[in-house]
Amino acid sequence: MSNRRKFIKASLLGTVGATALSSFKNTGELLGSATTPTSNNQLKPLIISTWNHGLPANEETWKNLKNGTSTIDAIEAGMRIPEADPKIRSVGYGGFPDREGKVTLDACIMDHHSDCGAVSFLQGIKHPISVAKKVMQKTSHVMLSGEGALQFALSEGFEEENLLTDEAKKDWEKWLEASKYKPVINMENHDTISMLVLDEDGNISGGCTTSGAAWKMHGRIGDSPIIGAGLFLDNEIGAAAATGLGEAVIRTAGSAMVVELMRQGKSPYEACKEIVERIYTKHKNHKDMEYLQVGFIAINKKGEHAGYSLRSGFNYAVYDDKKGNRMEDAPFKMAWE
Ligand code: ASP
Repeated sequence: MSNRRKFIKASLLGTVGATALSSFKNTGELLGSATTPTSNNQLKPLIISTWNHGLPANEETWKNLKNGTSTIDAIEAGMRIPEADPKIRSVGYGGFPDREGKVTLDACIMDHHSDCGAVSFLQGIKHPISVAKKVMQKTSHVMLSGEGALQFALSEGFEEENLLTDEAKKDWEKWLEASKYKPVINMENHDTISMLVLDEDGNISGGCTTSGAAWKMHGRIGDSPIIGAGLFLDNEIGAAAATGLGEAVIRTAGSAMVVELMRQGKSPYEACKEIVERIYTKHKNHKDMEYLQVGFIAINKKGEHAGYSLRSGFNYAVYDDKKGNRMEDAPFKMAWE
């Protein structure tokens, strides 16, 4: 059982440690100071990434930034770590396949000039984040999809390989026995890595990469490669990125809205919370509500950061000079029932 899953289970059973208990009630209201909703440390660089796999990704990005690598290349380097790790079942190689047993990947990247690149529904390429970067740098387009994205990747020298590991295949075969299309969010089957960086020059960039929701329909594209949904930034204001049920994030243009709220003066915490509340309001009578989970992370130009999720269990990795690389639990609206 992963630490995250244990955390969720423990939270629901009420057996978490004192820190978490002092922070949350079942309503999800933030009570104590153990989890700071936002920290204004003015430190640069600052890297934040979704979920536990954000830790090794942050580590690699940090190392690259400190070695003088460009911010975009450092983000790419960091995100290639979970993409290549077969134990991470929600990103790249080893990711859960769709209902037809095909691993299809989505990714995007964006820099402080608002240049961006994305790939969606890409098969057979282990590092979609690198292909997204090439789309940004070498084409006049923002997104390439499916067969076209694959052809482009091959023309750029990427190698085609089988991304369906034996483990993922076994899980898919097990799923096939019941073939129930019911995405269970927050339980090891989806968790995109999204990363936001405020670099030493005070510029903001970000990236996102995922195998998307497990057992999705063949051809389904989530929020993660869509600029404005899974990721958005404006270098004058800040950046936001999402994880969770992509359909809900697309319906509400989630990450773009978080940035727009920061433009209006909201802190990253207030902005993430308001958009989660909006998603809840729009979905409370919706068929997706039963399994709906969404989480946002955000940073602003001042070096403040925050995360906020609809349901409990979302955490993200933060790396700065003062406290190093660590996990922070996101405040949330409500606990899982
Ligand atoms: N947002 C991703 C998608 O819907 C999955 C996730 O982050 O959990 O494809």
